[in-house]
Amino acid sequence: MSKARGYAALKARDPLGPFSFERREPKEYDVAIDIKYCGICHSDIHQARDEWSDYQEESIFPMVPGHEIGGVVTAVGKGVTKFKVGDKVGVGCYVDSCRTCPECREGLEQYCSVATIWTYNGRDKEGTPTYGGYSERIVVDENYVLRMPDNLPLEACAPLLCAGITLYSPLKHWKAGPGKKVAIVGMGGLGHMGVKLAHALGAEVTVLSQSLSKQADGKRFGASHYYATSDPETFTKLAGQFDLIINTVSAKLDWNQYLDLLKVDGTMVVVGLPDQDIPIGAFGLTARRRSLAGSQIGGIREIQEMLDFCSQHKVACDIEVIPIQKVNEAYERVLKSDVRYRFVIDMASLA
Ligand code: NAP
Ligand code: ZN
Ligand code: ZN
Repeated sequence: MSKARGYAALKARDPLGPFSFERREPKEYDVAIDIKYCGICHSDIHQARDEWSDYQEESIFPMVPGHEIGGVVTAVGKGVTKFKVGDKVGVGCYVDSCRTCPECREGLEQYCSVATIWTYNGRDKEGTPTYGGYSERIVVDENYVLRMPDNLPLEACAPLLCAGITLYSPLKHWKAGPGKKVAIVGMGGLGHMGVKLAHALGAEVTVLSQSLSKQADGKRFGASHYYATSDPETFTKLAGQFDLIINTVSAKLDWNQYLDLLKVDGTMVVVGLPDQDIPIGAFGLTARRRSLAGSQIGGIREIQEMLDFCSQHKVACDIEVIPIQKVNEAYERVLKSDVRYRFVIDMASLA
């Protein structure tokens, strides 16, 4: 074991502060990574405040959040074949899974039927709590490490490991592409990547945001249309328009209103994770054979495919780089939807 420095919440809703903890030494198939950057996902905030306690096991504190990790390999175990010292690598939302269940065999490790081992707020196979990317180093089995684009800045790619894949996976699964009308609800960290990726896949993209304040950015990211959901006319004008709606909103929202915007056979995919249940009326679904679906990040193979796609299409995140000392301030700004469009911690600031 060796000491690592990071930032942690010592208990639910505590502000984050400096924290020292142990990382394991690299084992045979492990990659040791110096973390250069880590994105701030809204899920970090939900978990540091223990907002999902109605839906999952109690959170583990102290908690070092962070699952959008970009770094450089510093050492590899003797069995490692995929990476070498100096490689630019990434780690996303999970660091292991059972590897033998049908889902793992299919490359759907995020839906492992035994246990996906989360990068933080989880326990590894020995039962030790996992600690995330708001820290200087991490040790991860090579099968759960990603190769980062060479032609794009690492800091702008780190958030692809969660925000990017969480939108790429449903866009691909529900076949966003030429001839398809896709709406992205909420243009924060996930949403802005949804706009860029859906556009790069060839779909016609509409943003549904609370106001028009980010319209120019939305158009720059590739949206053809941009509407404010605060204007009730938006919902009459766009009724029955979309093949696919991806809802990234982190708060309770009347999903029924959005279902009415789907065409016959259209699908709304929920990826935002509010801390409360939302009632759904039957008629909005039956009227046009609509579907309501959910999606969670993506499998390792698909994450690598997404990173390669981003490299090829020169797509990365719009970010604001901050020192780790500003993490609590950044959380407050995310909660106010004052984020353009992902905060990324420069880990050199830990020194
Ligand atoms: P974010 O950067 O805070 O973006 C959320 C956006 O939702 C905001 O920018 C805002 O967009 C909109 N919004 C916020 N509050 C709203 C409200 N009360 N009413 C209407 N719109 C509102 O968060 P994020 O990091 O993108 O994450 C979004 C959600 O996805 C979180 O709940 C997170 O936990 C979840 N998540 C899920 C997965 C998954 O695998 N399914 C993965 C990562 C994150 P506008 O200003 O444009 O309206
Ligand atoms: Zn995330
Ligand atoms: Zn499994």
